[in-house]
Amino acid sequence: MKQKLTLKNFNWVSAIFLVATPILAVILTYVYFTTETFNPWMIFVFLFFYFATGMSITGGYHRLIAHKAYTAHPLIEALYLFFGAGAFQNSAKKWVIDHRIHHRYVDQDLDPYTVKHGFWHAHFFWMFNSDSERETSLGKMYSRDLDKDKLIVFQDKHYLPIAILAGFVAPMLMGWAFGSWFGGLVLAGLLRMVIVHHFTFFINSLCHYWGWQPYTDTNTARDNMVLAIFTYGEGYHNFHHIFHADYRNGIRWYHIDPTKWFIKTLAYLNLVRNLRVTPDYEIFKARMIMFEKRLKEQKNLSMLNMEALLLNLKLKTEEAHQKMISLREEYERLKLQFHNDSRVRQLRRDLLMAKWEFQMSCRQWRLCLKMA
Ligand SMILES: [Zn+2]
Ligand SMILES: [Zn+2]
Repeated sequence: MKQKLTLKNFNWVSAIFLVATPILAVILTYVYFTTETFNPWMIFVFLFFYFATGMSITGGYHRLIAHKAYTAHPLIEALYLFFGAGAFQNSAKKWVIDHRIHHRYVDQDLDPYTVKHGFWHAHFFWMFNSDSERETSLGKMYSRDLDKDKLIVFQDKHYLPIAILAGFVAPMLMGWAFGSWFGGLVLAGLLRMVIVHHFTFFINSLCHYWGWQPYTDTNTARDNMVLAIFTYGEGYHNFHHIFHADYRNGIRWYHIDPTKWFIKTLAYLNLVRNLRVTPDYEIFKARMIMFEKRLKEQKNLSMLNMEALLLNLKLKTEEAHQKMISLREEYERLKLQFHNDSRVRQLRRDLLMAKWEFQMSCRQWRLCLKMA
């Protein structure tokens, strides 16, 4: 059972830091704009640190270290750990323990940032409480692999100097190289840190609050495309909570998931490999289960809505049927020409998937008819 926030367990350092830095960022940004002529290069310096630190949290701390969704060259891991520290969200080891406990005990008292204790608790009030599961046997259980990784252990041991170096000294130096050390420090250091803080905190608060649940309703996680823009693609949180080992959060090509695109680019450059992907069939099954659940819940649906739903399903079934027919024709044609070529094998897989999609659409339609 989580301890209530009291004076005894109040984490003053964390609270003062998280409350004072946004105020300071606003004041110093104002000072910068009133004392210096704006240098357009500062936009570049800001964006560099915005992406380097944010992506090190989502692509590094989160998808690589916490979930092992892929493997990375030690140089990439070292860069993630360096810039990740500059995001000032604790060392990777501490961050990952909290996150793994969040996944395992989502929405329960043991979940460090459960949204069940309120929106602001999930957003950042949870860090005001110094009681943590990290030092307990539970925390140790979730960090066994982390203790074997020398880079992670080193970053944890020297977290503060690395964080100051990556989060403030480096932006200041880059700002100086482009014409304004003060602009670099304030805009790409302090202001950027506050923005990255709250955009990534949205994943624990808003992504468990606002959006829809296409894959599971067994926890509060939501998919939200708007939030994905601000959270480097982590807005597809409902998908992530059910398929957390997948290197993607937004699975469709049109899903806004910059972290996925970044990892994919690194894979093309041979700097990361073993990208884990959930089989299409598993994703489809989860969606179907949710769909059927919703249909059963909609017993009071008005006739008009039911008609629209039936029409929609009919179109979907026809579309799936057409797709299956054309894939089958292509498969038969290529099979004769290329026998067991990889293209034919891929086509066979696509055909099986299309068949499954068609059968499921028919099933949904029948279910819907029964209820009408
Ligand atoms: Zn979550
Ligand atoms: Zn996660």
